[in-house]
Amino acid sequence: MDKKMKQDLKILQNIFKNARNKKHKCLVCEEKSINSHLLQKNGILNIISSNNHIIQITGNDFFKAEKEGIIGIKSIGINRAMSYPLFCNIHDTNIFAPVETEEYSLNDYTSQLLFSYRSLCAEIRKKMINTDIFERIKNSRQFAVNFELLKLAQSQIEANSMGIQDLNWYKNIMELEINNSYNTTDYIFEKIDYDFIPISASAVYSPINPSEHTLEVLKDSEKILNYIFINLIPQEDKLTLIIGYHKLKTNNWIKEYITSWKGLSDIEFEKKLTDLFATKIETWVISPDYWKELETKNIKAFKDYWNDNANNLRITQSVDFNLFE
Ligand SMILES: [Zn+2]
Repeated sequence: MDKKMKQDLKILQNIFKNARNKKHKCLVCEEKSINSHLLQKNGILNIISSNNHIIQITGNDFFKAEKEGIIGIKSIGINRAMSYPLFCNIHDTNIFAPVETEEYSLNDYTSQLLFSYRSLCAEIRKKMINTDIFERIKNSRQFAVNFELLKLAQSQIEANSMGIQDLNWYKNIMELEINNSYNTTDYIFEKIDYDFIPISASAVYSPINPSEHTLEVLKDSEKILNYIFINLIPQEDKLTLIIGYHKLKTNNWIKEYITSWKGLSDIEFEKKLTDLFATKIETWVISPDYWKELETKNIKAFKDYWNDNANNLRITQSVDFNLFE
């Protein structure tokens, strides 16, 4: 690496660090945000942890990928696992109180909505942080004549800003429903129970269909993309999938995808999970003991797949291995 490249890398790392360490406001008020857990420690993460630790698997952005590889696999304390700066202390406590009590039921629409709302907010925050990183790159003197990087930064700013705009549409409707100021239930959720596997996830996914989503469609800021909400919630004796969408933002693919999770054999379910983690969502957690049991060749196939397809959200992907066999 020559001197200029070293300098570039150092500045990029600083930008990345500053954006990560930046204090954020609560996503619903002006107060400072605390670290919110996408999945609560008590009753969810502690069920699949060992010594209060869990394995978190995360798709790294390209700054981190430089150091750690495209897929990051690390042991993390359950206090820090699946957490993002989302809400102030009051909102983090009050909004989610219904699913933090002992008796909450995953059959309730409100519980399903709250889990989905939290993962939606995390996606908004991730996109805000990305926008900030690329704004800093754009404004840095170091890259003033690096036209290729500036072009990338500009397109990333646009893509992330449009994503935030779309996600805010979903967020506003969810908030009206959470506050009971809206007497309809616009989201459709399915709850499906499986035999226990010690994993957990909470994510949103925007299915991109290459024949429908041309660059023009993707760049049309008027058009709100379809998103689906996916939560995998481990319980004492089962693993529950809560999967849903907004009733106006759906198509045959989404309906068929959700149906495809029903009536699966154990092996079909493992393959379905492998597809989910390889091609659709980028952060999930797994029990350290169970991770150790997975076969090396399957972990390698999973990592290789990520190396080739990290930024691919297209629904046409398919994987030919089973991470959990
Ligand atoms: Zn707040």
